Amino acid sequence: MRAVQTVLLLTLTGLMLIVGQSVVPFVVAEQKPDSGASSLKVQPTLAPLSGRVIALDPGHGGIDGGAIGLGGTALEKEIALNIARFLRDYVQEAGAFVVMTRDDDRMLDDGSGEGTRKARDLRARMAIMNDPAVDIALSIHLNAVPSPRWYGAETFYADVRPENACLAEAIQAALKDIVGTPRHAKRSNTLFVLRTMRPVGALVEVGYLSNPDEARRLIDPNYQRKIAFALSVGLMRYFAEDPARCADGDLDG
Ligand SMILES: [Zn+2]
Repeated sequence: MRAVQTVLLLTLTGLMLIVGQSVVPFVVAEQKPDSGASSLKVQPTLAPLSGRVIALDPGHGGIDGGAIGLGGTALEKEIALNIARFLRDYVQEAGAFVVMTRDDDRMLDDGSGEGTRKARDLRARMAIMNDPAVDIALSIHLNAVPSPRWYGAETFYADVRPENACLAEAIQAALKDIVGTPRHAKRSNTLFVLRTMRPVGALVEVGYLSNPDEARRLIDPNYQRKIAFALSVGLMRYFAEDPARCADGDLDG
């Protein structure tokens, strides 16, 4: 008997059409012979991040190297960019469209406008992250403090909207599960990036370059990929959550 296929016409939003990445994979599921139905049925499954626009912001770049570890051989700007690139691959595979504030080793400073190079760099990053099309913005940094004893990834958020805490908790939980960290998601309303972030977002300090053991892990591409994977899982978990739960701020529920 010839299989009857059900073709579902999917309504794509304008954004999805622009993005061009929301091609929905069709899963052809064979039905059991005793079901009495046709032998083949086409079922649509949406990729977990289908249609989402995610802005990734690898901190620093160019003459601004950021935090330094291992006698100058571990640079925040390089590790943050590598992790952002791995993360881009993961979330694109999950159906998201990604914009990067930078995809090479440079500051975002065109020399125009007020303030210092650093201030202009930050404003240019925010202009990209605050584009109205962006659903989620994630800034990636690494820490360094005078004492070598501190370690672990931690996610910061501003509590200007309840969704930010939800996102940060989801990312921190994924980091804990996949990479391992003793740290918790932390509220910070003082960081410029978080204060001025329009979309739902967070800033992740993925580790301490001032801790030699952690710095050695952080320069390893396999560990960078693992962190990126954890961040992608956090994003997927956030979108899988009940939005009403986030809007209520009921994080313990
Ligand atoms: Zn930084």
